[in-house]
Amino acid sequence: MANDCLFCKIIAGEIPSNKVYEDEYVLAFRDIAPQAPVHILVVPKEHICCANAVDESNSVYVAKCFEAIAKIAKAEGLDNGYRVINNCGADGGQTVMHLHFHIIGGVKLSEKVV
Ligand code: 5GP
Ligand code: ZN
Repeated sequence: MANDCLFCKIIAGEIPSNKVYEDEYVLAFRDIAPQAPVHILVVPKEHICCANAVDESNSVYVAKCFEAIAKIAKAEGLDNGYRVINNCGADGGQTVMHLHFHIIGGVKLSEKVV
């Protein structure tokens, strides 16, 4: 756990969240400011600051995040598809420096950006 990391505090239960999924490696909870009918954050339980910090020592957490994403998408009924977004660094728009993946869905998404 990193000091003063919002998502580490949510993982530790020090800050409440609307949890949708949890296992040994991953916590997923609803975004506090949803940008679509379904907007869930999938967060590794190890503090990894961003995509740039993924390496062979911690990449299992990334794999586990994507295993969780598939389960969550089924549970949320996103049968028609959804988008997974990772913002990395300042130019990528990352505001919380703990690696996370946004699941965005429940509506037909714009084809712009990606
Ligand atoms: P980023 O901009 O770093 O990719 O995404 C951070 C996300 O965290 C944003 O979508 C923001 O709404 C969400 N967020 C920020 N603070 C909280 C919080 O305290 N609880 C929850 N559930 N989401 C948060
Ligand atoms: Zn953290």
